[in-house]
Amino acid sequence: MAFSRETVLSSAEEFLKFVNAGPSPYHVADALKTMLKDAGFEELKESNHWTLENSKKYFLTRNESTLIAFAVGAQYKPGNGFSLVGAHVDSPCLKVKPVSRKERQGYLTVGVQCYGGGIWASWLDRDLTIAGRVMVDNGKGLEHRLVNVKKPILRIPHLAIHLQRDVNDKLTLNKEDHLNPILATKVQAHLNEENSTKSSKSEKHHSVLMKLLSQELQVETNQIMDFELCLADTQPAVIGGICEEFIFSPRLDNLVNSFCACKALIASCQENSLAKEKNIRMIALYDNEEVGSDSAQGAASLFTELVMRRICKGTVLAFEEAIPKSYHLSADQAHAIHPNYGEKHEELHHVEMHKGYVLKINANQRYASTAITCAILRKIAAQANVPLQDFVIRNDSVCGSTIGPILSQKIGIPTVDVGSPQLSMHSIREQCCTTSIAHGIALFKSFFKNYPEIFDNMKF
Ligand SMILES: [Zn+2]
Repeated sequence: MAFSRETVLSSAEEFLKFVNAGPSPYHVADALKTMLKDAGFEELKESNHWTLENSKKYFLTRNESTLIAFAVGAQYKPGNGFSLVGAHVDSPCLKVKPVSRKERQGYLTVGVQCYGGGIWASWLDRDLTIAGRVMVDNGKGLEHRLVNVKKPILRIPHLAIHLQRDVNDKLTLNKEDHLNPILATKVQAHLNEENSTKSSKSEKHHSVLMKLLSQELQVETNQIMDFELCLADTQPAVIGGICEEFIFSPRLDNLVNSFCACKALIASCQENSLAKEKNIRMIALYDNEEVGSDSAQGAASLFTELVMRRICKGTVLAFEEAIPKSYHLSADQAHAIHPNYGEKHEELHHVEMHKGYVLKINANQRYASTAITCAILRKIAAQANVPLQDFVIRNDSVCGSTIGPILSQKIGIPTVDVGSPQLSMHSIREQCCTTSIAHGIALFKSFFKNYPEIFDNMKF
């Protein structure tokens, strides 16, 4: 293996810290911002005028959840290409409803919405908390604050097997009725409230929940104007397996590629200086992929195009000239072969842990990879000693999709869809291999370094 055990483990350990700090897309964007600022990237605001300079590095966010970062090559001219790595920062989860206050059978429960296509059964019997963003009125204006309650305050219990004898043959889970987490018993919550104002029936959320939020944020409850709160597992991500070769973690889809993209962009600017670079090196890490990308901050929005047009302003048609010279490496997780369900995988396209990044191909264009973009990626991967595995879905199975086809269709950018192998996709706790992190960083770094030259030497 071209990657030492030390490199593999140290990058995996660093990833664990990232994923543990990212229980909501807002926390992920915040962690990415910190990484970029520490590496000398300057923050832009979409609403301001931009004066960009060659050899400098920038980033911006939309909705505080989608992030685009880019480094301008020293040799960059408007009309030159974009070397873009795309991924997403959101994951399926349960989100607190706008009115969440429920009382059932002597319990206080919290109304939740299902975000994305989660394996909701995996959320049962877990020690859950809440994390997300809260809009606070500080008297002078609105503040955007992050909150992450670091203790288990919620739980969705399974019904005992004695009351559903066939549960091991068929688990019936109604998404409205059976996913309400318990916050407290009514009797304890009311004891807790003795010294504070008792909640009135008209309040939208349980007062014990609002009190906890106000304590976490050090504000009064009436200063909390609104929020978007995700439920999250309190169990941290860990290295696992008898050979310490796996990562057991929430949100591997798709924090693996968000992390690797950001690390690779930063490292590429440090290791191969921008002096000879003529492209824009860019990462775009989107919110709302899990619900189809159709939002102002999703991959289907105009956001990416607007940012690209602002970067190549100055020459008429510079954007139109830049796109065919550009390349989008769309990175999202892939399905590793499952030991207990081998028959679910196409017989000649088994994807295995530690065997490299996965090239995703679909004749029906659920993935955007073409022979041209695949061939380019094969050269890039070879230059980084990262092995590749080809993936197609069985013809009798429905193929998933990702941001690759969306962005390539919207702006016409040549795109390849890749990912690293994992199990339990969309479960509250997933599994991948430690090698994936080192492979991802190396592959994306090689892309930033080598793509412009590969493009220049294409003979058609
Ligand atoms: Zn994904």
